Amino acid sequence: MSFLPIYTFDHPVLRKETSPITEDTEELQKLIAAMQKTMHHAEGIGLAANQVGKSLAMTVIDISETKGNEHILPLVLINPVIIGTHGESVFEEGCLSLPEIREDVVRPESIGIKFLNEDFKEVEMEADKLLARVMQHEVDHLHGKYFIDYLSPLKLSFLKGKLNKLRKGEVETDYPLAPPSGMKKKKK
Ligand code: ZN
Repeated sequence: MSFLPIYTFDHPVLRKETSPITEDTEELQKLIAAMQKTMHHAEGIGLAANQVGKSLAMTVIDISETKGNEHILPLVLINPVIIGTHGESVFEEGCLSLPEIREDVVRPESIGIKFLNEDFKEVEMEADKLLARVMQHEVDHLHGKYFIDYLSPLKLSFLKGKLNKLRKGEVETDYPLAPPSGMKKKKK
């Protein structure tokens, strides 16, 4: 099994609302495993299904390799819904779909969230700090939203050059990327 290519800004699949998952299938379990492998290889701490081109409401998260979070087990969130928020914090975010871009984003500090886990069991939990941050970032992906959507028009204007390069696929990463949406597949 090889790594799945990651879709980048501004591919339509990343702007579209994803579909809820209604059935636990072998195909779904294969996708989960492939996404976990892809996320680890890319050294990400979260990956949404639409970031690998599948418009499904599912994300994988693993922050266990970050400092102080070694005890937090990897998570699979199917059809996640944020059911409550509390407080506010500022944190510098990055995204595998927006390589080379890191910006401060204001979000609630802690959240309540419910989802189905990889065994299709309903889970309701509270999360704070980095875990709450990653969960909100990933749930946003599932609704077609990037973290840069929170930036002011001025801050966004500073990123214009980088974003245009991304749109054209002019970016180098240590992980495979899907071709940019504007590019047609080469005919043989
Ligand atoms: Zn992201």
